[in-house]
Amino acid sequence: MILIHPPVAKPCEPPAGIAKLCGALNEHRVKFRVLDANLEGLLSLLNTPPPSSDTWTSRAVRHLPKHLASLNSWDAYQDEGRYRRAIKDLNRLLEMAAQSRRVRLGLENYQHENLSPPRSADLIRAAEDPGDNPFYLYFKNRLTDYLRSEQPSMIGFSLNYLSQALCTFAMIGFLRRDYPGIKLLLGGGLVTSWMRSPHWKNPFKGLVDHLVAGPGEAALLSLMGVTPSGDNHFRPNYDPLPVKDYFAPGPILPYSSSSGCYWNKCSFCPERAEGNSYHAIPVDKVINDLLGLVDKHKPVLIHLLDNAISPSLMKEICEHPPGVPWYGFARITRHLLDLDFCLALRQSGCVMLKLGLESGDQAVLDSLHKGINLEEASLALKNLRKAGISTYVYLLFGTPPEGLREARRTLQFIVDHRDCVGFLNLAIFNMPIHGPEAEQVETKGFYEGDLSLYTSFDHPKGWSRQLIRQFLDKEFKRHPAIAPILRRDPPVFTSNHAPLFVMNKEVRG
Ligand code: SF4
Repeated sequence: MILIHPPVAKPCEPPAGIAKLCGALNEHRVKFRVLDANLEGLLSLLNTPPPSSDTWTSRAVRHLPKHLASLNSWDAYQDEGRYRRAIKDLNRLLEMAAQSRRVRLGLENYQHENLSPPRSADLIRAAEDPGDNPFYLYFKNRLTDYLRSEQPSMIGFSLNYLSQALCTFAMIGFLRRDYPGIKLLLGGGLVTSWMRSPHWKNPFKGLVDHLVAGPGEAALLSLMGVTPSGDNHFRPNYDPLPVKDYFAPGPILPYSSSSGCYWNKCSFCPERAEGNSYHAIPVDKVINDLLGLVDKHKPVLIHLLDNAISPSLMKEICEHPPGVPWYGFARITRHLLDLDFCLALRQSGCVMLKLGLESGDQAVLDSLHKGINLEEASLALKNLRKAGISTYVYLLFGTPPEGLREARRTLQFIVDHRDCVGFLNLAIFNMPIHGPEAEQVETKGFYEGDLSLYTSFDHPKGWSRQLIRQFLDKEFKRHPAIAPILRRDPPVFTSNHAPLFVMNKEVRG
């Protein structure tokens, strides 16, 4: 069995989903191998001289070894200018490498001129012509070698992001064409979202043997003829992954203590629209896992992947700190109103919390069932700042209850809390196609294709995407209190690399 992490996804940490599968397979003594085709594929293209070279590209080629070394040490995270140059040059090399294939390629981006990932017909076309994929030479050689030495009976792909979809299907097409006897499996977050749609009909029959929705451990074991043992909790196993090779100064270990969300009430939330229920690993097991993983891999950072880290887990981490810095998503709850709690979090290694504030207008928050009171949010942000925990604040513009007036209140809230906001993420609302809100507005069918998870809609206040973009570009982003916050955001890697800059600043005092 071979598990593959396909291109393109940010190459800054090992894939968490595959590490979980490795944990389950290992526990049951199933023989398997893992291929991070994303990291390897990107490095392979970066190291291939581009077909034509202008001044910028030639310079990027010359500086490539220095850039890679800099991103794999603390060097780049000590100097924002150096970091930005490295990222820009790497993206330039990828762009040039894929240009002739009509693909806009970057470290987190894969956009084909004619093929669109939410269209199943386009994914099938990518499978029919794998040689057209910019990673073709890499994966053809790598997979051929692997298949010769390992002779697997099954290959599984973990597909989590749209930017991975066309490459995943190109690899599937190559295997179907050249190795028709091997069983092919497809799972991961994106596949789960597709399959949870009430209108799902499998368009990939004959191409993929098994599609898996949700956590893949039990499905994988049963396909291998093994009965899952124990309580279905297996510590992620990062041993088969090149943990030290990702774009980071040392291993960053992602860990998920739950699936779904313990709040599960926000009306705009795709998790809720998909009907994903909440499952949490008991906190003592989480602590045990974290301590074991830290002991083994000596990471520089732990990335908690939960949609919202539960307050009970936070308390447990405060009592049993993992011994290395950590960050993740949290809800703005009353716990953060207690300065001592925030100080204890900081003591436990928390360097940054990602907070979904969404709006600075109370009526909008109430209408979205966000469960946030703005006065409390204000105090929580101030407490986190006092405790030395950076914040990555997520804002969502264009939800049905928001218009320009409400958006301006959000702007004012951020201006008033400029000193407490480390980083900002600005998103424009996408209406989940099967969510409860889609039933209350005039929708316009599928956005981009039969696999699209979102629908376009007539905004009840006329607050169209075009008007929102104008507001963001001309007013919000230009505000003198907000522009410096936005400039701090690490390009491409954003919240994945932001804690590294925070940690580095702390070391330098
Ligand atoms: S807190 Fe986040 S994950 Fe949970 S329901 Fe709200 S938006 Fe969804």
